[in-house]
Amino acid sequence: MEISNCQCCNSEYEMRRSDQKFCSNKCRSRFNNKNRLRNKPVIKQTTETLLNDYRILLDILGVNIQTFVEKQKLRTLGFSGTRFTRMEYLNDIKRQALVIYDVAFYDYDENNFKLIKL
Ligand SMILES: [Zn+2]
Repeated sequence: MEISNCQCCNSEYEMRRSDQKFCSNKCRSRFNNKNRLRNKPVIKQTTETLLNDYRILLDILGVNIQTFVEKQKLRTLGFSGTRFTRMEYLNDIKRQALVIYDVAFYDYDENNFKLIKL
């Protein structure tokens, strides 16, 4: 009997068929449900927006831990600013920032955002 690892829960199981990928029906349907969500247009679009905005912020930060950027420049680069992964209260400046993965940004003044690599 050949042993394989379940693609869903990663536990070892004895293969009953050569094309078997999951340890159980429960794992097979859990895996398929998760991927169905991943392929939904609204999920794909949100992920693309997040990744695009994140890439722009990382490019602007470069090797810096923090920097300023003109809001106009961000718009020119195609920054959407409509999706975030979370909000975070920055203790040292006593204000809320929006976060995309590990980059926080907030209105520094009318024309500029401040970016901070967390
Ligand atoms: Zn499993």
